[in-house]
Amino acid sequence: MDKLLVFIVGAVIGSFLNVCIYRIPKRQSIVRPPSHCPHCGKRLRWYHNIPVLSYIALRARCAFCGKRISARYPLVELVTAALLTALFVVFGPEPKFFSYSIMTCALIAVTFIDLEIQEIPDEISLGGIVAGILFAAACPSVMDAPDRIRALLGSIAGAAAGGGSIFILKTAGNLLFRKKIEELGIEGAMGDGDIKLMAMIGAFLGLKLALLTFFMAPFFGVLPGIIAKFRKGAETIPYGPFLSMAALVAVFYGGRILSLFFF
Ligand SMILES: [Zn+2]
Repeated sequence: MDKLLVFIVGAVIGSFLNVCIYRIPKRQSIVRPPSHCPHCGKRLRWYHNIPVLSYIALRARCAFCGKRISARYPLVELVTAALLTALFVVFGPEPKFFSYSIMTCALIAVTFIDLEIQEIPDEISLGGIVAGILFAAACPSVMDAPDRIRALLGSIAGAAAGGGSIFILKTAGNLLFRKKIEELGIEGAMGDGDIKLMAMIGAFLGLKLALLTFFMAPFFGVLPGIIAKFRKGAETIPYGPFLSMAALVAVFYGGRILSLFFF
């Protein structure tokens, strides 16, 4: 029963994340105006706005103008619901469940925004760093720390190590691929958005899991083929989705993976 409740709340949160994913890149407010169809602008009624179910009932079309609704809407709702439920099953109604849920929601929004505009909004990454650090100070158990001070330091160390690791990677990448970067006329091997995102992940996960995330992320590079399809022939591949996927693997399996290497 609790799991079902978390799933439903997760789907509703996913519906809100859809609003963020659609509006933040356009610099629009995420609270006003109420939900409307992106094609005809008509305001949606509450029964057009039920996560997943409305999409199925309306057969993926706007109730007013009949234009197609992106499959991204039910996808984000289902992914959010499923991940929050999985976190609840693993961590129970404990601070870690809430802390990791906040991070997971931020990562879902970042992933879809990064795929769309190749940018990671500061509102999410910097806001997430603050949220992660405050959460650790309020609930030391999320950092497995015995007191608030050590939890706070653990979160800050995680943010510094996370951001620092990408900064070093970026600097090395820019040196190694200087010619290629000049040819393409792009900003560099990685954006500053990735540094802030990895700092956010570190603030929520602490030092060890942040470093694990950093080292696992490249293995998700096997997916760029799929991602490139979304991007229609662009030259660079957004790294945010890989960091996000690695962070989630670290949340669910990090303890076990680390124990394999360090006993
Ligand atoms: Zn419409």
